[in-house]
Amino acid sequence: MDRYRVKPGSQVDLSQWDPNDSSAFEGQKKEGKRHLLLLNEQLEELQELLYAENRHKVLVVLQAMDTGGKDGVIRHVFEGVNPQGVKVAGFKVPTAEELSHDYLWRVHKWTPGRGEIVIFNRSHYEDVLVVRVHSLVPPEVWGKRYDHINAFERVLADEGTTILKFYLHIDLEEQKERLQARLDEPHKRWKFSLGDLDERKLWPRYMQAYEDVLSKTSTAWAPWYVVPANRKWYRNLVIATVLIETLRGLDMSYPQPENGLDDVVIV
Ligand code: ADP
Repeated sequence: MDRYRVKPGSQVDLSQWDPNDSSAFEGQKKEGKRHLLLLNEQLEELQELLYAENRHKVLVVLQAMDTGGKDGVIRHVFEGVNPQGVKVAGFKVPTAEELSHDYLWRVHKWTPGRGEIVIFNRSHYEDVLVVRVHSLVPPEVWGKRYDHINAFERVLADEGTTILKFYLHIDLEEQKERLQARLDEPHKRWKFSLGDLDERKLWPRYMQAYEDVLSKTSTAWAPWYVVPANRKWYRNLVIATVLIETLRGLDMSYPQPENGLDDVVIV
């Protein structure tokens, strides 16, 4: 999965990253979906181990353009994990109280504790994406945030958090199809917002903002992955695989049981 990791310090040009890529998996959609079921089971076991060991903390950041598939990833990649050890934190337009604090305030309190996986559905990166594209604060303000964010994530990592960040990469054409599907299918209409069309017009500016995020904030302690996301099944496989490989690398083990359990007789 290394091919999708943004090397720290490299300059990202998203036009060079193919959102249709599915080259790391030999099969097609049908086999891909079947393979995901296997990965779901592996992830379930690893998450149970993480929870039982109660040592590591895992933060998964999901960012994407509208319709990019964040919700789909949460549903399909994490299917089967024990909700007791997994939380989802969604970050929408900040409330008045949140706005009266620094932008990391609302984020920090959702970061994972020991034994937990927390998935950020949007994140502190909105503060250098939507905030930049819509000029909600001046460039002198958002311009400093890349360094803040790297330092913030460094604190989390130094204190035992494993951080994985995924940008779900779709293209304009794919977004068009997905928005159209939301209009056409009655049970998807609730997801359609006219505001999404205004955001769509700002696509090039968002891509520029994403390229800066990916170039400036992919670090050894909190790497970004650019996930080809036009094909939903492939997107899910990539994220599940990165998660599994990362969790395996943590070298976890179940806590030692109490002494003397061999002689226990339950009457
Ligand atoms: P989602 O698209 O994630 O399913 P919504 O449709 O409710 O959820 O969108 C949430 C909105 O909140 C997005 O338009 C996003 O850009 C916006 N948002 C998130 N964080 C911020 C922020 N810090 N400042 C301004 N807007 C934000």
